[in-house]
Amino acid sequence: MRAILTYHSIDASGSPISVAPDAFARHVAWLGGGHVSVESLAAITQGGDCAADGRDRVALTFDDAFENFGTVAWPQLRAAGLPATVFVVSGHVGGTNRWGGAAVPGIPELPLLTWDALGACAAAGAEIGAHSRTHPHLSRTAAAARHEELAGCRDTIAARLGVVPQSFAYPYGDCDAAVVRDTAGVFARACTTEYRQVAVSDSVHQLPRLDMFYFQAAAALADWGRPAFLRRIAMRRAARAVRQWWTAPKSSSSTRAESL
Ligand SMILES: [Zn+2]
Repeated sequence: MRAILTYHSIDASGSPISVAPDAFARHVAWLGGGHVSVESLAAITQGGDCAADGRDRVALTFDDAFENFGTVAWPQLRAAGLPATVFVVSGHVGGTNRWGGAAVPGIPELPLLTWDALGACAAAGAEIGAHSRTHPHLSRTAAAARHEELAGCRDTIAARLGVVPQSFAYPYGDCDAAVVRDTAGVFARACTTEYRQVAVSDSVHQLPRLDMFYFQAAAALADWGRPAFLRRIAMRRAARAVRQWWTAPKSSSSTRAESL
């Protein structure tokens, strides 16, 4: 099994974008315990479902580049020797996650990493990925503006940090054929919010992920890869699909998906 894990904020608010600090610490302990092969996002898009030693393969991603990535998540990951990618919204660096200026019910407004803090993470080995300039729905963004959201974000990060980002995460997971095509012209790989493990047939510009919001219970990772674990993923995926279908007349996806 091969999977890319998604985190947003590590905080105790219990919000849909939050994983609690104690749950995250358990995840780091498990991920660092040798049960799976934790690899960079670039590495995991190559090869098959198992590492050379037969272990499942996992990559770690953090959307939005919250301040607590630098203060809580990355120090623990670094101490455990675990690679990670943090996806940066270049127009909001040093600001907050109030995309578009409006509050979203149930979603806390939280500080984002500054350029200096991002530079420190990069210098310590974190991969800096791109997450657009302003966190729009890219499928609803006109072509010229969309190019600026993609290439403009890449260029700003490159200018500020001295590293050209190769990985992208679609804001809200929102991508259609035109968005994927444009993204493929700018980045080597891109992550969606489609909820499942990676399949050999997946495009590197439409990589599915598992949102760790759903894995906060004490032993949530203990049966990793076993039939019961895979059934839970399939059931969660089906429930999300039904909810997104049900809410489709009012919006393109669920309230939770809208908040990410
Ligand atoms: Zn986001």
